[in-house]
Amino acid sequence: MARRPAFPRICIALGCEDVSSLLTLARAEADAGGDFFEFRLDYLQQPAKGIEAIRRFLGECPACTVLATCRRAENHGRFQGSIKEQLGLLEEAVQAGARAIDIEIETAAAAAKAVKALAGACDVIISYHNFTTTPALEPVLRRLLRVPAAAYKVVTTARKPTDTSRVLSLARKHRQIPLVVLSMGEVGFPSRVLAPVYGGLYTYAAPSAIEGTAAGQVSARELRHLYRIEQLSRTTKIYGVIADPVGHSISPAVHNRAFHCRRLDAAYLPFLVPGRYLKDFFTAADELPVAGFSVTIPHKQKVLRYLDIVDPLARRIGAVNTVWKKLGRWRGTNTDTEGITAPLSRRLRLRNSAVLVAGTGGAARGAAFALAEQGARVTVVGRNFERARALAKACGGEVIEREQLDNLYFDAVVHATSLGMYPNVDGCFFEDRIPADVVFDMVYNPLETVLLRRAREQNKVTIDGLEMFIEQAVRQFEIWTGVSAPRPAMERAAREALACRQAPIIEK
Ligand code: NAP
Repeated sequence: MARRPAFPRICIALGCEDVSSLLTLARAEADAGGDFFEFRLDYLQQPAKGIEAIRRFLGECPACTVLATCRRAENHGRFQGSIKEQLGLLEEAVQAGARAIDIEIETAAAAAKAVKALAGACDVIISYHNFTTTPALEPVLRRLLRVPAAAYKVVTTARKPTDTSRVLSLARKHRQIPLVVLSMGEVGFPSRVLAPVYGGLYTYAAPSAIEGTAAGQVSARELRHLYRIEQLSRTTKIYGVIADPVGHSISPAVHNRAFHCRRLDAAYLPFLVPGRYLKDFFTAADELPVAGFSVTIPHKQKVLRYLDIVDPLARRIGAVNTVWKKLGRWRGTNTDTEGITAPLSRRLRLRNSAVLVAGTGGAARGAAFALAEQGARVTVVGRNFERARALAKACGGEVIEREQLDNLYFDAVVHATSLGMYPNVDGCFFEDRIPADVVFDMVYNPLETVLLRRAREQNKVTIDGLEMFIEQAVRQFEIWTGVSAPRPAMERAAREALACRQAPIIEK
């Protein structure tokens, strides 16, 4: 194998239908610090016009690197021409200054001689794409290696977490081969951040303009500023959150900011884990390896069966939100409990306090057990009386009917239903009268719920869902790292992330 080509870590893929949009995007990304761009000639309505675009762009930004791609329609690209025309355009792209060209294996295998001729003038990257699944990867690599090239690219679609870990492991196992690896789809998202860490030559990013719009995509800005990809290395510890859906989670913003603040060599990623793939995630987590992770809907209960050690309160609640590996064993605890008790303890003495828990779901269950554990007298109310009664019985508390609320008063109320949460922002569990002095709403999207607004109008002490969120995140951080958490920085990161997510996310 010839020398290993060196590329910047982030390649920003630019696919536009006209040259003017292409150049506008490329210039904007270069201004924002981008230095490596894929020009998708096949996306242009007139691919030949892309040659002049490359020449102009490199004239303006000579320090930038351009990779030209002109994938044929039959190989999932958009170029309608023949192989000869495709290779002709790529040759012109090289003459215009492109340092590298991407040729799909189907073309390379059919025109090996012509590809070899191009290899003298630029870095040829031979690519394999699979848009449906992640097949056995060693045969794929053997197929690619039959064509001599500067580098090889393996892009598959991840349906389950081990698809992503297998693709990353390919790069780690074959470090002597210049490889670009990527797992497409939202399940494969971690590969977009981790590929260069595991030995991949570079990773692909979307222009920052697409941020938050397409599942599984990551923008160059997020890679640089949220995941700090330039600083990640083989020693970086990997953390994350497992959920389905996971795209809305503000945990990556909060924990990555905390790692950065404490100068820890660690990264925190969103792992989309569909319900049926929880076990598969543990296999992937061992392989990557993942040092610890947050757990949220729908895995908080089921995750217990895969843990070696669970703390007693979490086991009684039957839910875990924090997992980490110590001495080769997976451990779990529930820091949502401190998310409830710590903010309340700052406002009242919990022992013997009368606390009403509204709701009977997972969060209500955690609250009821944590409060009972602290010696509070817990009363449960829910729209489903039988569920409320079962929860009250389990935590040693009492149950009331919703209608009884008019005649009762408590020291504090903990609201744990989804009423008031986006998109049901007008919902409120209580009528006008809120039966407590201290009002704690777990909902944090939006931060100012109808319940909290009414409570403030009635001069009550209020606690919002963000305080709970930060408290449980602080405890997670300290369990994982053994370092005190930078609480103010985490709270700022959470507020910024929430502000971005107030508007509905446009799914593509
Ligand atoms: P969950 O398990 O799905 O439970 C939802 C609860 O809300 C259930 O008791 C459900 O009643 C009740 N509910 C839903 N719609 C209702 C309505 N129209 N009227 C009355 N009750 C209704 O969810 P969860 O995990 O417990 O979460 C509950 C809330 O807490 C969510 O808003 C979540 O975002 C928030 N939370 C916040 C934090 C934090 O860190 N701040 C942490 C965890 C959860 P049924 O059982 O009758 O369906």
